[in-house]
Amino acid sequence: MPRTYRDIRQSSKLLNVRYDVRGPILEEAQRLEAAGQRIMRLNIGNPAPFGFEAPHEILKDMIANLPEAQGYSDSKGITSARRAVSQYYETEGIMDIRSDDVFIGNGVSEMISMVLQALLDDGDEVLIPAPDYPLWTGATTLSGGNAVHYRTVEEEGWIPDLDHIEARVSARTKAIVIINPNNPTGAVYNRETLEGIFEIARRYGLVVLSDEIYEKILYEDAKHIHAASIADDVLVLTFSGLSKAYRVAGYRAGWVAVSGAKHRATDFLEGLTLLANMRMCSNVPAQHVIQTALGGYQSINDLILPGGRLLDQRNVATKLLREIPGVTVQEPHGALYVFPKLDPELYPIENDESFVIELLRQQQILVSHGGAFNYPDTDHFRLVTLPSVQQLTDGIGRIADFLEDYRYR
Ligand code: PLP
Repeated sequence: MPRTYRDIRQSSKLLNVRYDVRGPILEEAQRLEAAGQRIMRLNIGNPAPFGFEAPHEILKDMIANLPEAQGYSDSKGITSARRAVSQYYETEGIMDIRSDDVFIGNGVSEMISMVLQALLDDGDEVLIPAPDYPLWTGATTLSGGNAVHYRTVEEEGWIPDLDHIEARVSARTKAIVIINPNNPTGAVYNRETLEGIFEIARRYGLVVLSDEIYEKILYEDAKHIHAASIADDVLVLTFSGLSKAYRVAGYRAGWVAVSGAKHRATDFLEGLTLLANMRMCSNVPAQHVIQTALGGYQSINDLILPGGRLLDQRNVATKLLREIPGVTVQEPHGALYVFPKLDPELYPIENDESFVIELLRQQQILVSHGGAFNYPDTDHFRLVTLPSVQQLTDGIGRIADFLEDYRYR
């Protein structure tokens, strides 16, 4: 039976899927750029455009391996990469991640989507921090699940509220997400907090999904503790990769490593393997550099130790933002962002997306609103600390000017 040709609509699966860090604000920035304006982009944690070079041996290795990397690889990844990941965790004291427990992906992003698709039935719930890195919420929704956000306490350095987590567990809860170090808040969780989360996971039979992509970007005396090192009787999936610490976000190299109660997860892991098979493999040239990256000189330390560019930039961003009346900032202990709070008395913001669009139009500076990270209040925004001290000083100066006008409306 012929039918009339209708408008092509997106699938209803996308109805509630959001990823606003690259949403309408970015489109507005692109529109302004097309109209000839120069926009300062302080919205995405992508090191390369801010003058960060990847370690030389990674670039060399990528090029040298191109002839070897023409074909598909094993779906879970090439042996050298999986072995390097397994050995890395072994040196970190986690003994039960074998190379067979490692899946290499096109960035952590692909593994987040794949794991949630393999894990969730329609209506299953995943506990996710608020604020979060929004792919966790979006990919949960796309997989048919419901994102249930748990509170993190700003005044205590954005540490998860364990009572709130437990109060949000239901019969449908399947997993709990930890983002540590955290994007957007920069929080780095202490042992007590992690142990508290594992207590809850154990009590209710939850899988722990630990996003540790910023594990090596730590400031001053912050120490990162791998979730997988906390307990071996809970299923833990640890996500990490090369995008941030090794500055090769464009190569798309990441992984998920399975540890703990693996014997309870045979069926789930078969499902994950099926999904890995269906997409053949991840970008093979990038897989070749994983071993080099993990085994080589850890040049990220030069950037975060005293005198290092990332540490200086974090310090300047925090200091300058705190000098603006009505702005408070919890100092980030890790990652590449600051997540300041604007006093609602001085800045009565009704819609934080409109607020950042207004800032963009008036000051040609692009930041992300708190709502993009599923933060429930309208009084936060996120700024990346990747720009040079000079750029940050200019950018935060423009934010200060904008806020001054805002106060006296
Ligand atoms: N997880 C977090 C917390 C992130 O901030 C990001 C990127 O910004 C990702 C995952 C995605 O990383 P990848 O480049 O490995 O896909």
